[in-house]
Amino acid sequence: MPGGGKRIFVGAKTPTEAGQNLARNTVLLKIKSLPALPGQAIALKAFDVDDATDESADAGGVIDSNGRLGDDNFADYLATPKTGVFVASGLASHTATLDANGEALVEFRVGMQPGNNYRIAVTPFPTASNLNVLQVNNPAGPMHVTADAQQPPEFNGDISPLLTVWRKLHIEVDSMAAPPTSGPNANYVTGVADAVRTDRPQSSQSVVFTRQLPTSDRNQYQNGRIEIAGTSYPVLSSATPLPHEFPYHSFVVQGTIPGNVVHQPFKLYDDDGRLAAELGLPSLPMDGFSGQIVNGKALALTPGETVPGIKSAFSPAFILVVDANQMGINPRRTIPFSANRDLFDVLLEGVFDDAKDIGDSESFWAHTVTMGYQPAEHEDLDPHAEAPLVGVTAETPGTWHAHGFSVIYTETIRDTAYEGGIPASYQPANHFDLEQRYYRLLFGTIAHETGHAPGRNWENTDHNEQGLMQKGGNSITIPFTPQTLLRFRLSTSWRNGQP
Ligand SMILES: [Zn+2]
Repeated sequence: MPGGGKRIFVGAKTPTEAGQNLARNTVLLKIKSLPALPGQAIALKAFDVDDATDESADAGGVIDSNGRLGDDNFADYLATPKTGVFVASGLASHTATLDANGEALVEFRVGMQPGNNYRIAVTPFPTASNLNVLQVNNPAGPMHVTADAQQPPEFNGDISPLLTVWRKLHIEVDSMAAPPTSGPNANYVTGVADAVRTDRPQSSQSVVFTRQLPTSDRNQYQNGRIEIAGTSYPVLSSATPLPHEFPYHSFVVQGTIPGNVVHQPFKLYDDDGRLAAELGLPSLPMDGFSGQIVNGKALALTPGETVPGIKSAFSPAFILVVDANQMGINPRRTIPFSANRDLFDVLLEGVFDDAKDIGDSESFWAHTVTMGYQPAEHEDLDPHAEAPLVGVTAETPGTWHAHGFSVIYTETIRDTAYEGGIPASYQPANHFDLEQRYYRLLFGTIAHETGHAPGRNWENTDHNEQGLMQKGGNSITIPFTPQTLLRFRLSTSWRNGQP
């Protein structure tokens, strides 16, 4: 856990509380004297100690620009002073009196930005102490208050453990329903075999010819299958007729199709879902997969290895990703299935936010991730020559206000993870690799898209941050760069306070 010390999770606990804008940014400090000093006056002072970001993970001081100096907490929407304040005094300093047991409870208010950190010094010598000599701006000098549990030997009092602000980011996972097995949205096309040639173009292969099919891209059905007369054959390549040419679609399949299937109907599938069942990949609807998305997935084919969930990517920004589905605050979880729904359906809020239940605010950070299937046909990776679109985050062009949801194209992610999937890499000996690549890309894409929401940037500005924000989706094993972590830490909400 970055930061160490103690954590305070500021912000509302539920969306209902969020409506009242409950900041919940107060801690109760417990001061105890040993031996007990009943009735003793004490003095307290709060310090904004050095940012706890590991310097080795922040080359050039992108996040922590003043090195080991303090006074580097970030401003929040409540205008909380950098040092935090004692509730009773409204200041960074406070005096109190110990009770009959020699104890006192004092309320202290912190800022709302994740990673802001504090320590509180206390002394029973309010008038004769060196409390006011404690400092955070000279690490080499005496009386320096560090961002850990150390006590400066010269101080005649005691300094609290480190206290660091964390935010919860509530992820709502919605999903398309399962693909239907019949009807207009079923993920196959039908036709009739007009002719069949066996042992063409080589032995143990066959070519099927048909006139009646929708126009398709060349090799759209490569690695798919054709079902005819009760048998399924792998499709090796496919071709569609050009105008004024031989007017037949043709499919080269592995196997010898008997000649008596001529004039019989067939069902033709592209490579969607290839090996998904064999590898136990989750299928739509995937709202029940939210726990693994957040926390990670133990690999079935690589015992002992887990692909980390999206939580791992956000914790260096002092953000704890929370599964809102498991909190029971996401009652509507599914939208209808469509094989292809394009970018504009996302940007114009067509269907993907139809089951969105949880809003984002300054006091309650939340984001909705909707698991879809494929984008527009020209970028769904059928055929493999296309450039795939694996996810989109809805934002208003120009102002780049995020709309509070991202779309994840799960089938195109599966296809991309298997990209270059020439038949040799589909062999069982390589399945462990395909499984790992799928989950890394799936979780990486969800973290990447979720990472687009805050900051009000054009997507390419976010992409220029590199790391996990690099264009085109990424592996969850690649971390967010300091530039991205800083953007998260400066945001007032996951959509930057937009209604
Ligand atoms: Zn992107």
